[in-house]
Amino acid sequence: MVRSIAILGSTGSIGRNALRVVESLGPGYSICALSANSSVELLAKQVRRFKPKYAAITDAGCEDRLAELLAGLDVEVLGGPGSLVEIAELAEVDTVLTAVVGAAGLPAVLAAARKGKRLAIANKEPLVIAGELLLAEAKKGGATILPVDSEHSAIFQAMQAGRPNEVAKIILTASGGPFREASAEDIRNVTLEQALAHPTWDMGPKITIDSATMMNKAFEIIEARWLFDVPVDKIEVLIHPESIVHSMVEFVDGSLIAQLGRPDMCLPIQYALTYPRRVAGIARAPRLEEIGKLTFKKPDPQTFRALPLAYQVARAGGTAAVVFNAANEAAVEEFLAGRIKFVNILELVEHCLDKHDVKTHVSLEELLEADGWARKEVSALACNGSVKRAAWSE
Ligand code: NDP
Ligand code: MG
Repeated sequence: MVRSIAILGSTGSIGRNALRVVESLGPGYSICALSANSSVELLAKQVRRFKPKYAAITDAGCEDRLAELLAGLDVEVLGGPGSLVEIAELAEVDTVLTAVVGAAGLPAVLAAARKGKRLAIANKEPLVIAGELLLAEAKKGGATILPVDSEHSAIFQAMQAGRPNEVAKIILTASGGPFREASAEDIRNVTLEQALAHPTWDMGPKITIDSATMMNKAFEIIEARWLFDVPVDKIEVLIHPESIVHSMVEFVDGSLIAQLGRPDMCLPIQYALTYPRRVAGIARAPRLEEIGKLTFKKPDPQTFRALPLAYQVARAGGTAAVVFNAANEAAVEEFLAGRIKFVNILELVEHCLDKHDVKTHVSLEELLEADGWARKEVSALACNGSVKRAAWSE
């Protein structure tokens, strides 16, 4: 059987790696659909090379240009934000790899779950904001969710060494990003350039900033909570600068099972595509004698305030996680645009969480409403010269 794959976000860091993986896997894997937001030229290049039946561009303004670039080719061009859902639902697609960044991927992830697809999920934000709903839809639709995030792929692999009720703890490892040795004081004046210089992973800009604040790890705590159905109190984080141990599961008998690999997303992407099989691919095993030592330490909760917040958000449930995510997404956008300082990201997230009255047992509409509120709140505070901004700009 040939696996027919749709990659949502094929022009990004995960998407480009996924195409390398599919190419190396050979004829058993074929690309049926690709999508980008506005990277028209790169998407057109990918279409010429991988010959999918569908190409989607979510920024409606770019559709004509894509159609022009693909004129004469046997490919159907789809346009607008709804096109992601269209390709996630295609009957001829059996595997949907979601590599879009942010909450924008939520409708398509839900659609793939409802249609019972193999859902290789890199796009963590939908799991953070609507994990409960997504899992319920996947169960109803008969979808299989396979984690692509390297830590969750590692946990998924380690989990196979025992039963769910034998799990004592999940230990998520974190590179710690560029500021892993920094104090709360040190990070007050870091620049955009410093925040974008990740020491071990080469990723898209949003997740690179999330790694610098460790918001990425905060999201991964919530992501693990949903994917593996464990209470957050059983999830711990350790900084592991070498990024070789991708995460661990501690079992009740005292065994600690870890998955090791080089810091290369090709392996978790490939495993999500080939599971339950393992095949030779482009990833190479780490050479431990060359690495020499592997080190671990606890992160400082004062420097990385996103971490303690993740536990509070997870315990609060309901709309707390959607506000946590949306405020962060909006604040990271402001930071990338040079309008706020690095430390303001967490201040804005905390501000939104403080101001928000958490609602539990909510519908998708209520989640989206809370998402919109947090984004507006952040942009008003960042752009309108509020009193708080003066304090931030000191
Ligand atoms: P990138 O920014 O590199 O790529 C994002 C992709 O999504 C691009 O194809 C982009 O298109 C598309 N896109 C952006 N905005 C929208 C939108 N509003 N609607 C539809 N498509 C959009 O991100 P990454 O590849 O780094 O990350 C993707 C996801 O995977 C994130 O959720 C991230 O947290 C997660 N992840 C990433 C890892 C990594 O190593 N990079 C590791 C683990 C998880 P265009 O090129 O046109 O802008
Ligand atoms: Mg990760």
